[in-house]
Amino acid sequence: MATFEEARRLVIGNVSPRGAECVGILESLGRVLAQDVTAPWDIPLCDNSAMDGYALRATDCQPPASLPITGYVAAGSTAAVALEPGCAVKIMTGGPLPAGADAVVPFEDAEECAGRVCLKAAPTFHNHIRFRGEDVSRGEVVIPAGTVIRSPEISMLASCGHAVVPVVSRPRVAVLSTGDELVEIGEPLLPGQVVNSNGMSLAAAVKHCGAIPVLLGIARDTRASHFEKMTAGLEADALITSAGVSAGERDLVREVLLELGVQPVFTRVDMGPGGPTCFGLSKGAPVFCLPGNPVASLIVFEELVRPALLRMMGHRRVFRPTLRARLQEDINKRPGKLKFLRVRLESAGGERLAYSAGAQNTGILTTSVHANALALLPAERTSFAKGEEVEVHLLSGSEEMLVMPEET
Ligand code: AMP
Ligand code: MG
Repeated sequence: MATFEEARRLVIGNVSPRGAECVGILESLGRVLAQDVTAPWDIPLCDNSAMDGYALRATDCQPPASLPITGYVAAGSTAAVALEPGCAVKIMTGGPLPAGADAVVPFEDAEECAGRVCLKAAPTFHNHIRFRGEDVSRGEVVIPAGTVIRSPEISMLASCGHAVVPVVSRPRVAVLSTGDELVEIGEPLLPGQVVNSNGMSLAAAVKHCGAIPVLLGIARDTRASHFEKMTAGLEADALITSAGVSAGERDLVREVLLELGVQPVFTRVDMGPGGPTCFGLSKGAPVFCLPGNPVASLIVFEELVRPALLRMMGHRRVFRPTLRARLQEDINKRPGKLKFLRVRLESAGGERLAYSAGAQNTGILTTSVHANALALLPAERTSFAKGEEVEVHLLSGSEEMLVMPEET
């Protein structure tokens, strides 16, 4: 039996970042950059105006200066314009600075009449000029390998002309449900049967963290069916199975995987829900066997599978930060296992408050629907008092903890 911390270390220690692939710039959003990206040119490419106004020489402008306007530079203009001493050139934001100019006076600090500009105040040298290369110099590394690409990185990649981006490739993750009681969504449902919800929820979780789910459907509780489906599953870059790992008579998952050459790394974890979770390797590819209970399988995905998939996709930060929140009710638990309590976090007065999201029995999926975080209650403890601080992990999709606008 692995402790939760050992299980996390073992999972992460047994997977490694995948190779690179090139994708279109927009497809690179959320991916991890596989190589340093450099700038092929200076940004800005030339000295230019930061304002709509007048380019001039600061020394020509002791008020009440009035300068003749001798030229015009539009944004996007590529013509060379020179500024004569004692004159001004009208210039739009982004327009290349005329040779000889060393300051820009914005429209709001000047008045224009009869082809001349009168200045309300003396400009300072270099005022409102964006200098060539002040943001980025040609050849500079603008985004290092390992960076997760967000909109600002997309902006930088585009500014540097990179239409195609090298990123760490995404694993294809096979998702296999097991059990004779399962029917697929849309099939008639009889008492004693349950819909294969894990197939969808785990595929959704795979997709949410950026990997590619491959739906394998259901393996029935026979060795032949397990062999067939698992053989297909082991072709993928990772395999996630659900159910069939407890002590049930027809729990065949471990046995069949062993026969298919999967090397077990651990076969139980000291956590609840999620205790029967197993992890192994098939020719280096990770195989996660999750409990069948829909609540447990998603908690294990969040805590153990997601970090591994993130690492495979090149992420360096793979674990949720451990935040602190104040419990809003008394909680009792049995000693012995680290318990993941499903909670609803709210922020109030700069504090995080943790409310139980509902009945904690793992048969109650509704509680998972209400939860946005998991509170980690240490193995040895049995009671937690209202007002006590506990450690929490936010759940996928709840990271932002957005708040509603005030009612109007
Ligand atoms: P097991 O691990 O096979 O003992 O299954 C534990 C519980 O999870 C049982 O109540 C199963 O019916 C349920 N279960 C197993 N697989 C799924 C699945 N794919 N979707 C929804 N519930 C499942
Ligand atoms: Mg079963």
